[in-house]
Amino acid sequence: MSGIQLHPHDILDEGMPQIMSYIRKLQDIKYVFPEVNTIFERNPYPVGKLPRNPVHEVVYGTGTMHAILPSYKASSLDQRREPGLSAERDPLMIIKEAMQDEEIEVIPWLNILNGHFEGPLLENNLVTDFQGQAIAHWLCPNAPDVIDFWEKTFVHLYERYGFASYMIDRIRYPDWAGQEVNPKGLLTCFCPHCQKKMADQNLDAEAIKHALQDWVILLKDKRFDEAVSYAQQNPTLQAWIAFRQESVSGFVERLIDRVRKVNPDFTIWLDLWPPAYSWMLGQDYSSLTKLSPALKHFPYHKLGGGADVQGLIHHLAATEQEQEAAFQAFKRLFNLPYDLSYAAFKQEGFPIQFVADQNNIVRAQSAPGTRIFSGIQMWNLTPHNLIQAIQAGESSAADDLLYYCYGWATDDLFEAIQTYRVKGSY
Ligand SMILES: [Zn+2]
Repeated sequence: MSGIQLHPHDILDEGMPQIMSYIRKLQDIKYVFPEVNTIFERNPYPVGKLPRNPVHEVVYGTGTMHAILPSYKASSLDQRREPGLSAERDPLMIIKEAMQDEEIEVIPWLNILNGHFEGPLLENNLVTDFQGQAIAHWLCPNAPDVIDFWEKTFVHLYERYGFASYMIDRIRYPDWAGQEVNPKGLLTCFCPHCQKKMADQNLDAEAIKHALQDWVILLKDKRFDEAVSYAQQNPTLQAWIAFRQESVSGFVERLIDRVRKVNPDFTIWLDLWPPAYSWMLGQDYSSLTKLSPALKHFPYHKLGGGADVQGLIHHLAATEQEQEAAFQAFKRLFNLPYDLSYAAFKQEGFPIQFVADQNNIVRAQSAPGTRIFSGIQMWNLTPHNLIQAIQAGESSAADDLLYYCYGWATDDLFEAIQTYRVKGSY
């Protein structure tokens, strides 16, 4: 059984009849995951055109909410509504109605901590880097008003659309990618709420900032190998990494408790980074999987596991030699045991065993019985590579596949899966 992600523009521009005809080609789709609130992302990413969209060649996500909800803007925290939303152009209602007679479950996909948020309480809820700069569009898991906003949103989504199961994504600190590469997004969070929580746990926020500053100097001096050893061995940095993980797990626990208190039918699935990187972004599989029955992660081997590896390497290193050294250090920091040069990575990505390796690590780190969806990259690769990734996912410890994503995938990829499912080979 598999799932596939949809964007709101797929539903509005292509219409459900066309979408259903393509979903049927995949043979075993049991779940569709429509994204309710977008992120700041080019569709498709990073280049190319939407292959079947009759209205737009490219769509730029602007972090807006594509669901009809009351406004919370006057008094608290809110997310900007997508302009043009109306009773006739309501993608979540359109997909709900289209799926009523299908054997497919709709699981709306919500981006929790990243988006175009607004309202009088916004500033008090933003992630702050180690130099005191707020990170635009990112909410802190320790900030006071975030769960109130999401509780209202879940309740009102349920009232209008009736969905009780949701996938929650962006439950983490910022990574270095985005509209531009900014590694300072990683060196967070030092908002007043985090600093108070650190003090309560006898963690010295100033010592952590100094350790991060020393780490940045090693990276700026291109001493990449030393920087990796420093991060791995420095007890202050290790305490900071643990603090971030505990903050995200605590946030997810409070969020799920709150919404389930309102309505015990709410079921929340998790979207996580693959375990190679998750620990660095505040995601700890062992504690998070105690809170939820299912998760998806995205071991997209061609794209370096979904991380903008090249963006980071080019930000840190200019010459070919420095870039190679930075890449080797990157593999060491993130425990990627592949004998691979940077030039080969740029050509081919990680080897195919990355898919099964990461799925097997997820299984080992997750609570027993966790249902694991292996994200399958379904764009910007050949049909042969796609089938290889499906086979790697199916032969790993993952339970199911989740294709990402409908709107970016070219027709030849749908046809490759159809052939593979019907004939058993490709
Ligand atoms: Zn914070």
